[in-house]
Amino acid sequence: MPSKQNKTEEWIKKAQSLIWHPFTQMQDWEKDLPTIIVSGKGATLRDIEGNQYLDATSSIWVNIHGHRHKTINEAMKRQLDRIAHSTLLGLTNLPAIELAEQLLEIAPKGEAEDEKLSKVFYSDNGSTAVEIALKIAFSYWQHIGGTHKLKTKFVSFTNAYHGDTVGSVSLGGIDLFHAAYSSLLFDTIKIPSPTCYRCPINLDYPACEMACADEAEKILKKKHRQLAGLIIEPLIQGAAGMLCAPPGYLKKMRVLCDKYDILMIVDEVATGFGRTGLMFASEHEGVVPDLMAISKGLTGGYLPLAATLTRQKIYDAFLGDYAEFKTFFHGHSYTGNPLGCAAALANLTVFKEEKTLEHLKEKIAYVKKRLKPWKRWRHVGDIRQVGFVVAIELVADKKSKQAYPLEMRVGVAVCQEAKLRGVLLRPLGNVIAIIPPLSTTMDELAEIISVVGVSIKKVTAKIKI
Ligand SMILES: *Cc1c(COP(=O)(O)O)cnc(C)c1O
Repeated sequence: MPSKQNKTEEWIKKAQSLIWHPFTQMQDWEKDLPTIIVSGKGATLRDIEGNQYLDATSSIWVNIHGHRHKTINEAMKRQLDRIAHSTLLGLTNLPAIELAEQLLEIAPKGEAEDEKLSKVFYSDNGSTAVEIALKIAFSYWQHIGGTHKLKTKFVSFTNAYHGDTVGSVSLGGIDLFHAAYSSLLFDTIKIPSPTCYRCPINLDYPACEMACADEAEKILKKKHRQLAGLIIEPLIQGAAGMLCAPPGYLKKMRVLCDKYDILMIVDEVATGFGRTGLMFASEHEGVVPDLMAISKGLTGGYLPLAATLTRQKIYDAFLGDYAEFKTFFHGHSYTGNPLGCAAALANLTVFKEEKTLEHLKEKIAYVKKRLKPWKRWRHVGDIRQVGFVVAIELVADKKSKQAYPLEMRVGVAVCQEAKLRGVLLRPLGNVIAIIPPLSTTMDELAEIISVVGVSIKKVTAKIKI
């Protein structure tokens, strides 16, 4: 019998040699000791050696009600005893039907009946949910016909992140991730990122009167005849470092999309399911998208599932005799997976039963209060908070906003310090993002904030540039 120690060493060796990890320099990974997670409960993760960590990234923005939640576990077990998977090609299943009904019920709503989101197209990750929106929007105008057939291009934002498949990378605007593939991608038109801390047009909010939206309008006005859709991350550009748009910007884009006859695709993959304090970020500005992509929090962080929601008029454009070939020729092997849909339904049940969004208000206010004094810290350039999404941008020089060079890996160093103190984070360059499960308790929240504070102080005090 191998001893427990030997067994752990064996796992470590395999972990270093067998798997190619995402967004990871494997040369570093092979040298560092991997943390092997074996279990979780609530906001806590436990590794193979029994160390415990608070999951302050929600396992990369997906977990909502904590790990191993009774309601979700039980719903999945019940579904498992019926069936794990069957296809949506030519068949359907109960959890997929019930989930579609509930998703359309909670989706952002306006006053007009015809702007309602009324159809659900399932897939299995955020990138594909975005690609589906893209293909639907593109085909929509082709089906409508006439001069609308010229509407074949998409407009997106610098600093945007919509996923890692080739189509979603084409929409992206983060050079570090996307530039390497530029010759492989289709052309998109870019609007400067509406981010206030590093304003692309060098103005100050609110004196600017949202001049960035006027810049956007100039582009839309000039190009609308060829534009099929505009895609936007609502309120926050996540992967770029939780960059915040000025209040009202999203609504303004809705108005402009209507004015210039452009489909508005809202990517709620990161912001959906309560992250920003409301079920969807679009609700903060009363926006109803034409197409909406959701994934990450959809199953409460349990299984890969995604959906693209759309309005009736878009769906209707695909109807016709079979021989017209207006069918939406797209689907995935696991589309509408019953087990995933059962997890998603249970996720929504917990929102209701535990009044998650109501309890979140107090936590959001607490974080705001705790972080307020940090604004005075020497290397804290900006603190951004939208609901329960928090980001602290560290800078080499506060006055000039000079960034630490990326290769100094300041964000990584802060996260390493935090890990030693039992808090798991993942940096976005020099930005420390705190995105715990919505179920995180006040005590756990207090601990996370204390640890992040100590870690930032420790690292920034050491660094000289
Ligand atoms: C994570 C993310 C995606 C991609 O989702 P995956 O499931 O990782 O493919 C798309 N858009 C946004 C805004 C995201 O944060």
